Amino acid sequence: MKKNLLDAIKERPLLGDGAMGTQLMIAGLEQGNSGEAWNLTHPGRVRAIQRRYVDAGSECLLTNTFGGSRIMLNRHSRAGDVVAINAAGVEIARAAFDGRDGYVIGDIGPFGGLMEPYGEFTEAQVLDAFREQANALVGAGADAIIIETQTSLEELRLGLVAAREAGAPCVIGSMAYDVTLDGSTFRTMMGVDPERAAEFMQEHGADIVALNCGTGMDMERARQAVLRYMQITELPIMAQPNAGQPKLVEMKVVYDETPVQMVAGVVPLLQAGVSIIGGCCGSTPDHIRAFREAMDQFRAARALS
Ligand SMILES: [Zn+2]
Repeated sequence: MKKNLLDAIKERPLLGDGAMGTQLMIAGLEQGNSGEAWNLTHPGRVRAIQRRYVDAGSECLLTNTFGGSRIMLNRHSRAGDVVAINAAGVEIARAAFDGRDGYVIGDIGPFGGLMEPYGEFTEAQVLDAFREQANALVGAGADAIIIETQTSLEELRLGLVAAREAGAPCVIGSMAYDVTLDGSTFRTMMGVDPERAAEFMQEHGADIVALNCGTGMDMERARQAVLRYMQITELPIMAQPNAGQPKLVEMKVVYDETPVQMVAGVVPLLQAGVSIIGGCCGSTPDHIRAFREAMDQFRAARALS
C-alpha cells in the first residue's frame, strides 16, 4: 500500500507539478472564464495537462480547484457546482496518475476578496466557503489539502481550520511572498514575513509549511524562504516558485524563465532541506522534467557518497 504523504517525505523529497492556469489557457480556456468549471465541462483536457506532469515525473498533483470555493465560483454563476467541481478535481488528478502511486493534493486558493472591516465578506462566510470546499476535496479522497497563495494570516487560519475539520490526512499552508522594492527581503502583500508565517502555521496545525507564487520569488529567493522557515520550525517544507518574474508582453503576463535556468536552483533547494518541490505560474511539463532529472541525479550522488 502507498505510504501517506507525510511518511513518504521522511524518506526522500517528492516532486510536485507545474502551473495549471497557464496550461489551461494554452488548452483553450479564455481569460476571465472559470478554469475550475472545466473539471465538469472539459475533464479530458484537465486530465491531459496533469498526465503530462505525471509523465514528466510529478509525484504530487494539485487539483484544478484553486478558485473552487463558493465565493470564487459564484463570480461565474457556478456556486451550485462547488461539490461537483471539487470532487471532479480529485478524480481527474487521480486518473491522471493512471494507476501509478502519486499524491493528490486538494487545492484551495484565496477566496478572492477582503474580509470585514476592509471588505464585504464576513469571517463566517469565508470559513463556510473553505469548509464546503475542503469537505468536498477530502470526501473525494484527496491525500492532502493545500491552502495556497495566501497573503494574510487571518484568511490562512480559516483555510487551515477548514482543512483540519474536514479530516484532511495532511494540511499544507502556503504563502505568496513579494520581494520588497529595494530587493533586500520579501514579505506577503499583507506584510507577513516567513518567520511569522512559519510560527503561525505551526500554531494552527499545518503539517507542512510552504511558499508559492509571489513576485520576484525565484528559486534562490525560495531557498532563502526555506532557510528562514527552518529557523522557526521543524515541520517539512514545500516550495513552488514561479518561472521567474512576470512580464507584460502584448498585454499578456508571461513568465519566461526556461527549464535550464530554473533547474539550476533545484539542488540548492534540496540541499537546504526542502521536502516537496514544484513550480507555480509559468512552469511547464518541461520544467518539471528538468526538475525530475536534477532530483534523481542528486539522489543517486547521495547514495554513492
Ligand atoms: Zn503562481
